[in-house]
Amino acid sequence: MGGASSAGSSSEKGVRLPGCDLEISPMGLGTWAWGDRSTWGMNGYDRSYDRETIREAYQRSVEKGVTFLDTAEGYGGGESERIIGGLLENDPVHRDRIVIATKFMPFPWKLAVWSELRKSLRASLARLGLPLVHLYQIHGPASLRSPAALADALAAVREAGLVLAVGVSNYSEREVRAIHAALASHGIPLATNQIEYSLLRTMPEKSGLIAACRELGVKVLAYSPIGQGRLTGKYSASRPPRGRRTFSDFPMTEVEPIVEELRRIGDRHGGKTPSQVALNWVIAKGAIPIPGAKNADQAEENAGAFGWRLSDDEVRALDRLGKYGRRGLVHRLWQHG
Ligand code: NAP
Repeated sequence: MGGASSAGSSSEKGVRLPGCDLEISPMGLGTWAWGDRSTWGMNGYDRSYDRETIREAYQRSVEKGVTFLDTAEGYGGGESERIIGGLLENDPVHRDRIVIATKFMPFPWKLAVWSELRKSLRASLARLGLPLVHLYQIHGPASLRSPAALADALAAVREAGLVLAVGVSNYSEREVRAIHAALASHGIPLATNQIEYSLLRTMPEKSGLIAACRELGVKVLAYSPIGQGRLTGKYSASRPPRGRRTFSDFPMTEVEPIVEELRRIGDRHGGKTPSQVALNWVIAKGAIPIPGAKNADQAEENAGAFGWRLSDDEVRALDRLGKYGRRGLVHRLWQHG
């Protein structure tokens, strides 16, 4: 555990994480669905999906060079981290190449943030079975404490050797600048801002957030990059996604023209699928997509999103169809970025 990852058989270069000596793969693997029932249907509506299909998704991802895993203390009430811990324990061949990112949930009532963050991190490490995580992220802009207090807490766990790099998630440009400055006073770079970024949510490029991250040297991790399954081509108006998939929950009638264009472009690249083209669009924008995968087929298909490039004209054609994003109250409370 703790080594650099590589992009496997792909010629695509890895991405250096600011603040540590690590490279991550150009695409990651999101693991919110692992162990989650209400949104993703494990032990619920999705009977095709269990621990064995998760093991295969992990195995196939790693074989294809996707060695950067994103989880959180909140996913499945800690079950996602527990599952990853088991996978790493049983994979001595690859585990030293795996880079793990997890997250602290900064609920407003966690006012003693210095000790709360350390307590959460220790619990995550116990579930993961690891002495440290490579990237530790503040899950969202929900804390009542100042950027300086959050930066103190992050700096302390980094100083203690429990994390290598630190990041945030769902932060706006103003919030990124504030935590970046607070961390800088400890001599620590802000490594990442994890935000919802896809053809169903182009807001971060239009708001100036992505440009600000680039200016500050902060890497953008793009979550829900295939619109929680909506951009894969398998859902339609008559067959919408199941579960509580509230990110970019546009009616499928509005999504279908985008999927059609993804399919057209993919055909020109030797039969790339809508998911692969949607993920390649994110990579073309300089961000690192972290799509979820529930089984080996999804993992394999998603891994085919890197190692090739859309043309500038194709990126522009998709830009013209991309949606700004949802702006409901629930979205705005959590997603400042
Ligand atoms: P996503 O990656 O856009 O969609 C993942 C889902 O799409 C899968 O669970 C699967 O669900 C389906 N899928 C994946 N690959 C497919 C393929 N090749 N073909 C067909 N279907 C496919 O959405 P997400 O899981 O919300 O986001 C990815 C990761 O971002 C999460 O796992 C998590 O790590 C992170 N995230 C972070 C935040 C945050 O606030 N920081 C919020 C959301 C997500 P079905 O098979 O059931 O359709």
